[in-house]
Amino acid sequence: MTELEKGTIVATRGRHFEVRAEDASRILCELRQKVKSKADKTTPAAVGDDVLFTRIDADNGAVDEVLPRRTSFFRPAKGVEGRKQVIAANLEQLAAVTSVISPALKTGLIDRFLIAAQIGSLQPLVIINKVDLSWSEKDDSIVNGYRDIGCPVFLTSAVEGRGLSDLRRELAGKRTLFAGHSGVGKSTLLNALIPGLDLKTREISQVSNRGKHTTTTIELFELPDGGYVVDSPGLKVMGLWDVDPDDLPYYYPEFEAFSGDCRFQPCSHIHEPDCAVKAAVENGGVYRFRYENYVSISSSLKDSAG
Ligand code: GDP
Ligand code: ZN
Repeated sequence: MTELEKGTIVATRGRHFEVRAEDASRILCELRQKVKSKADKTTPAAVGDDVLFTRIDADNGAVDEVLPRRTSFFRPAKGVEGRKQVIAANLEQLAAVTSVISPALKTGLIDRFLIAAQIGSLQPLVIINKVDLSWSEKDDSIVNGYRDIGCPVFLTSAVEGRGLSDLRRELAGKRTLFAGHSGVGKSTLLNALIPGLDLKTREISQVSNRGKHTTTTIELFELPDGGYVVDSPGLKVMGLWDVDPDDLPYYYPEFEAFSGDCRFQPCSHIHEPDCAVKAAVENGGVYRFRYENYVSISSSLKDSAG
């Protein structure tokens, strides 16, 4: 007799899903037809989904039911206007992974990831890697800018092991999405956090392969202290297709202490006179780099809307 078991989808493999059973075995599963025809037709099953499945043999099985999602992290479905594809389900945190240099630290991208985290109901955190290569006062001010709005910032060197124990503590027991440009050190960090993982880093794969490794699979990596990290190669840039430009100020929580004093209500804090947020930028109440990112994201949202 076949019995339903509980498990979690930990990777997509083409049209199949790798399910981690509660006994830690990995079963390659197809979706039964009834699962495919259920609610989310664009993404009936995604990495992070808790499922009920049955075993067919030692390695193979079938997903009978996808349990309700606690959170979903989306991107627009390819080719279908307005349709969303779930990148990963049931995540709790989003780590915007960056490097101090090579590639250069881009706070505009961090801000976009933090907005995406808020939309997806994920706790944001920032990782600034490669601190062994460079550090300046300007970088200190960036760190303070994020910590002041309650966003934890971790300064790491994946190659020297600096900052990793704090990061380990933050990730333990939680499901975290790693988002960031390629080259910032996501694979190197994961290898350092998970003994024995041995992910290919960029350098190695360029030497050993003919081309770059262009894997598109999404995978949950189990952390030794519990929890998972999802590395999503498809999430190098973050388009904020879902945000109404008028709502953008709400994603900048530090504006709130001042926006009530703007002469115009509502105020976009861009072109209006007597804007208390702009005044706060001038007198140090709001970090200038955050405000400049706000203006630039606002104009990109307006461009894409018009
Ligand atoms: P990914 O594309 O984000 O997965 O980046 P990789 O992990 O492949 O790293 C890209 C390059 O940066 C590789 O050559 C790594 O050796 C290097 N790298 C990663 N982390 C660090 C670090 O903390 N310090 C330094 N100096 N180099 C690093
Ligand atoms: Zn204003």
